[in-house]
Amino acid sequence: TSDTLRPTPRPGVMEIDAYVPGRSKAAPGVKLHKLSSNETPLGPSPAAIEAYRALSGRLELYPDGSATELREAIAAAHGLNAANIVCGNGSDDLLELLTKAYIGPGDEGLYSEFGFLVYKIAILAAGGTPVIAPETDFTANVDALLAAVTDRTKIVFLANPNNPTGTYLPITEVKRLHAGLPKSVLLVLDAAYAEYVRTNDYESGIELVSSADNVVMTRTFSKIHGLAALRIGWMYGPAHVVDAVNRVRGPFNVSAAAIAAGTAAIRDRAFMEEAVTHNNHWLEIVTREIGDLGLEVTPSVGNFVLIHFPDVPGRSAADADEFLVSRGLVLRRVSGYGLPNALRLTIGSEEANRAVIAALADFVKDGA
Ligand code: PMP
Repeated sequence: TSDTLRPTPRPGVMEIDAYVPGRSKAAPGVKLHKLSSNETPLGPSPAAIEAYRALSGRLELYPDGSATELREAIAAAHGLNAANIVCGNGSDDLLELLTKAYIGPGDEGLYSEFGFLVYKIAILAAGGTPVIAPETDFTANVDALLAAVTDRTKIVFLANPNNPTGTYLPITEVKRLHAGLPKSVLLVLDAAYAEYVRTNDYESGIELVSSADNVVMTRTFSKIHGLAALRIGWMYGPAHVVDAVNRVRGPFNVSAAAIAAGTAAIRDRAFMEEAVTHNNHWLEIVTREIGDLGLEVTPSVGNFVLIHFPDVPGRSAADADEFLVSRGLVLRRVSGYGLPNALRLTIGSEEANRAVIAALADFVKDGA
């Protein structure tokens, strides 16, 4: 048949549900507040915008293939060694590169029930088998993760805080997870929302990476630094993992624009602090006021919250979504994560946050 006469993707590829990003369209004629992709309402640091605009005219030249300037700026900001850092085209790129380097056919990649979707996509794309551990109260469960480890497990992915739940595992639990894993398993701490967490846990997370041979941390410029459009992520890990990732990495996976803007952004600590302060102030208000409407909100330490709706016609998450979109408020449906009765809301500007709270109050009162 014609099927045998055309190229066939490798096993696993057709099992992938392609990642569908959050919508960015409102109803016609209303002002759009895009609250669907955990982007920051403050935009990037003015210094980053300036560095981007000041890019030289030499667009015919390739960027520095190892993004040295950016790695050194990150290293200086965090007190790390630049040799232990790899930059990527977003942290998605690094999650994929880690998977490509450590997982092949027959190998398993393990993550939690409501864990970030890219893990599953990357594991299947590498020909591996995704294994999912159940959660408790929308939070990763260390015992369940450890119970799911087999002699085929190559990577355990832990998004901390996790997207889309916003929940967080304290460092004591992360250390317990690490202590229970075989030394041959790589623990990937996906810390895309690290900067929002107001405990000193992240320093200890970095210490865990520094002190172990099988832990890496991935970070991003897409959230707190407001540079999602430029696609910049980084990874910190032991030299042998850095070496493996560099072998499978695309030679120029970070653009000149990303290097310039990222370097300026990471040096602007004051701007970052401002963005964290704005977020955490509104995170508290949004959580409390939406909760006061009688909707359940999962406590979050990120720049977003998961709002739960009753599974009742006219009152459901899908109804709420349509109602909010008609007012220009675009949230994220999370049924792709197995959460059909919830919407994820990104913390926005004061205006956007107030508009969401008011719209949800109307929705709860009158339904769709
Ligand atoms: N990890 C988590 C948990 C995320 O939520 C995201 C963004 N959706 C990423 C990684 C990837 O972000 P980026 O590729 O923009 O760095």
